[in-house]
Amino acid sequence: MTKRKALSRNQRARLFLEHGGVCHICGTLIKPQRGEKWEVEHVEALEISGRDDWENLRPAHVKCHKTKTAEDVNVIAKCNRRRAKHLGIHKPKSALSRRDGYKFNWAKGRYEKDTA
Ligand SMILES: [Zn+2]
Repeated sequence: MTKRKALSRNQRARLFLEHGGVCHICGTLIKPQRGEKWEVEHVEALEISGRDDWENLRPAHVKCHKTKTAEDVNVIAKCNRRRAKHLGIHKPKSALSRRDGYKFNWAKGRYEKDTA
C-alpha cells in the first residue's frame, strides 16, 4: 500500500494515544514496550478512497499490516461494507464490535474504552 504522508514522531505518538494503542486490524493492544512494532495504516486503501487525512489513519501492528496488504483484494469488499454502514444498511454484531475491553464507536469510527 502506498504511503503518501510521513508523520512526525509527535504525530505518531498522538495517533497511537488517540486510538488507545489498539491495532485497528486485529483489535488488540499494541505493546511497543514488548518490542511489538507498529506503523500508521490507512483504514481505507488510498487507491480506493483517495483519503489521506487524519481520520483515515490508525495504528496497526507491522505483522498485521503485512497480512492486510497481502489480502488487499478484500479491501474493496470492506469499503463496500463501510459504505453500507454509513448508509445505515448494516448494523455490526455486538460480538464483533467489542474486543479486549474496547468497544468500536461507530459514530466516531474508532475504538474506545468500554465503560459498560
Ligand atoms: Zn494487530
